[in-house]
Amino acid sequence: MFEKTIITIDGPSGVGKSTAAKAVAEKLGLSYLDTGAMYRAIALQAQRERVNIDNSSGELESLLKRTEITFTRDQNHILLVLVNNEDITDKIRTPEISRLSSDIATKGIVRKRLIEIQRRVGKEGGIVAEGRDMGTYVFPDTKYKFYLDAELEMRAKRRWNQLHESGSDANIEDISKQIEARDKQDKERSESPLHPARNAVIIDTTHLNADEVVFKIIKEVQDF
Ligand code: C5P
Repeated sequence: MFEKTIITIDGPSGVGKSTAAKAVAEKLGLSYLDTGAMYRAIALQAQRERVNIDNSSGELESLLKRTEITFTRDQNHILLVLVNNEDITDKIRTPEISRLSSDIATKGIVRKRLIEIQRRVGKEGGIVAEGRDMGTYVFPDTKYKFYLDAELEMRAKRRWNQLHESGSDANIEDISKQIEARDKQDKERSESPLHPARNAVIIDTTHLNADEVVFKIIKEVQDF
């Protein structure tokens, strides 16, 4: 019933977009497209190759030319990002790559290239696309648009929990500052800044758990 559908889920960092998007995709039999992972992948390559990301240097443009982004579908219908055929999933979740991906995401040439790929993936439909500009810019014609938001304190706490579970001793004030800085840059950039699409359903996840968010999204999609 939803095989041609595109569902977009946008919102700031640490709001629970990935968890929700993965679960919604699984429940509706769709594929999950994590567009943040694509920006992170370019950031990883820039870091590895010590690229000066300033547009005027031309280094970023040549990095994009020699970087091939493709996908492989895992058993959970997640589209894993491959960079020059390498699965970089485990390497892109560091604080440095978070920061660098937000810097790189302000660059028009990067956005143009990644948006082309995202639209190509979306052509057949059947995806839950998660990011910052999915509903506003990449797939403006879909009717299923969601924007998740939550208080900064709660988003920092969730990220802190995740990091601590994986053995990190990161401190909550630092995490909060990093999230705030990244959101500010994502909201204030000139190229497709983060904001809710005019016709998006806005869900405040501050006092909701993951199952409640997924339930709300599925209900909205089924009631459309
Ligand atoms: O979602 P995630 O935290 O992995 O995204 C990393 C960065 O990539 C974001 O901070 C944002 O700057 C950028 N991004 C974007 N547009 C998207 C997805 C991510 O600008 N559609």
